[in-house]
Amino acid sequence: MTLYNFAPGPSVLAPAVKEKLAAMVLDWADGLSLAEYPHRSPAFEALLEQTRQGVRRLLNISEDYEVLFLMGGARQQFDWIARNFLKKGALYWVSGHWSKMAAEMAKPFGEVTSFETINETTDATHADYAFVCVNETIDGIEFHHLPKLSVPWVVDASSNIFSRPMDMTGVGLLMAGAQKNAGIAGVTIVVIHKDFLAKADVGEKDRLYSYKAHAKAGSMLVTPPTLAIGAVRCVLDWIEEMGGIEAMEKVNSQKATLIYKTIDESNGFYRPRVEGENRSRMNVVFDLPNETLLEEFLKGAQERGLLNLRGHRSAGGIRASIYNAMPIEGVKALVDWMKTFQTKWAEK
Ligand code: PMP
Repeated sequence: MTLYNFAPGPSVLAPAVKEKLAAMVLDWADGLSLAEYPHRSPAFEALLEQTRQGVRRLLNISEDYEVLFLMGGARQQFDWIARNFLKKGALYWVSGHWSKMAAEMAKPFGEVTSFETINETTDATHADYAFVCVNETIDGIEFHHLPKLSVPWVVDASSNIFSRPMDMTGVGLLMAGAQKNAGIAGVTIVVIHKDFLAKADVGEKDRLYSYKAHAKAGSMLVTPPTLAIGAVRCVLDWIEEMGGIEAMEKVNSQKATLIYKTIDESNGFYRPRVEGENRSRMNVVFDLPNETLLEEFLKGAQERGLLNLRGHRSAGGIRASIYNAMPIEGVKALVDWMKTFQTKWAEK
């Protein structure tokens, strides 16, 4: 039976990526595993630089942006962002679980103003930056365009980086935990425009949290997560081999449409959490009529090799995470099960 992994992160990896990563673990260079190879070596530094350039190519950004590979998880960055940049105040677009957490975590560092929505008319005069989570992984909400503001955007793109072209105009910082669309757990990618980085400031006590210090050290202020960076490299290569970001977007859009269409044509049997243009193409979240049916649905899905569809523990329901590496066949198998399940219960 083919297994399809709909997990929210760590999540599905393309078979070709797993093979390449396995080869890196076994014998990467000079007969040694990447996991045992010194980070201060020309071979690893070359890998780091190629990975950095891959990130720049796929985000379509120039050398004006620093690309950092940091440890500590995406959540850690909610703290670092405020620690480095929050002086006068910051705007937070609170659209779901992760942006709410980011706003809470910024509060010890300065004045945080939370908004249900941010647009061109939002007053940003006294802000250092505006924070947005462009894909709320738990709530299934995605923003495809950011309004123009007079302050830089700070973007959490943990769950939709590399899934579609992103307009980086106006973005001061973009960060993403790697374990969804960019690699495996253990590394967080942080991209910072050099003009914005110039404004970063932490005290001597906080020097290990300093973006400037990490940038200056070329992401080697501490021993970098070498194997996780290798995994990012494998994923970036795979994306490029598959035709790049535009090709990813095309398939991602087809996959999401298949599921949303099934929900919308189910006569209310499947209940979407999100309507309209902010429906996420990465995490499709919906409910069934009751908890008994939810459990039945999940049990049958599991039996068919459709794994990890249970919604987040704080949200319930179903969440289908359909990142880049989820093949369209997996989505078709899910949609088949949704239709079969609905017919079965409608007949009762
Ligand atoms: N931001 C988003 C959008 C997420 O989906 C997650 C969860 N993976 C996080 C932040 C937190 O990531 P981490 O568990 O690495 O702190």
